Amino acid sequence: MSIRDKFNLDGKVAIVTGASKGIGEAMARGLAEAGASVVVSSRKQEAVAEVMQSFRDAGLEAIAVACHMGHVEEIENLVEKTLETYGGIDIIVNNAATSPVYGPTLNTELRAFDKIIEINLRGPFFLCKLVYPSMKERGGGTIINVSSTAGIEPDDGLGIYSMSKAALINLTKSLARDLGKDGIRVHAVCPGLIKTRFSEALWQNEAILSRVTEATPLRRIGMPEDLAAIAVFLASEASAYITGNVHIVDGGLVNY
Ligand code: NAP
Repeated sequence: MSIRDKFNLDGKVAIVTGASKGIGEAMARGLAEAGASVVVSSRKQEAVAEVMQSFRDAGLEAIAVACHMGHVEEIENLVEKTLETYGGIDIIVNNAATSPVYGPTLNTELRAFDKIIEINLRGPFFLCKLVYPSMKERGGGTIINVSSTAGIEPDDGLGIYSMSKAALINLTKSLARDLGKDGIRVHAVCPGLIKTRFSEALWQNEAILSRVTEATPLRRIGMPEDLAAIAVFLASEASAYITGNVHIVDGGLVNY
């Protein structure tokens, strides 16, 4: 197989959560451009339908299925709709996450703690559980968990969010060990500061932006598109002998 063929995702089916904007949308577009049929998902049907339409307008294959990653029955529906439409699942990107509080870790209310765990950890775990039979039946698959550099070294003011992202890395490693025998590879991707809605409080703050930019070897913060190619690489045969690893995309800021 040529190198070009190894990156080709023709015939593959991918679910991307949190794909209505930001990193998820960029990863979904990358996977679709590489040939995959993509299920664009986030909480809001209107938002995912818009992204689906923009993919279709570009000649890419996509459907849109709303799914709140904290709601078990919606995750079940996401998998059912995908199987009904495409007959199987090869790739999932667990990208949706929440970070509802900022401040000292012990100030976090239990409700916020539970919500972070529910969306950032329980949802991705449950989606992995549900897609496993289809991936196994198809002889393999890839799971990409979008963690964060905060999962390696906690971000100030984001203690419980950082903890959830560290746990997601650990889950990635456990699943990689369990599922390797089925040909299923599991990866963690850790973005640094990327210019999206999610992180706007950070990059809109001039002091933080210049501190991060100066400390980053590549002298800029990231853009969502910086995450597209790594999703294609990790989802494809090009990374056939890679699993259970942490892939940092942060312009060189964090050394792991
Ligand atoms: P974003 O631009 O705000 O996009 C977040 C996406 O998640 C949207 O599509 C949103 O759409 C969806 N979403 C939010 N809550 C959801 C829920 N409960 N269930 C399902 N979908 C939900 O954020 P982003 O920066 O691209 O973040 C994507 C991932 O990258 C997250 O896992 C985040 O932790 C990680 N990350 C981001 C940065 C950064 O600097 N941006 C750094 C490190 C890691 P709806 O509103 O329609 O649901």
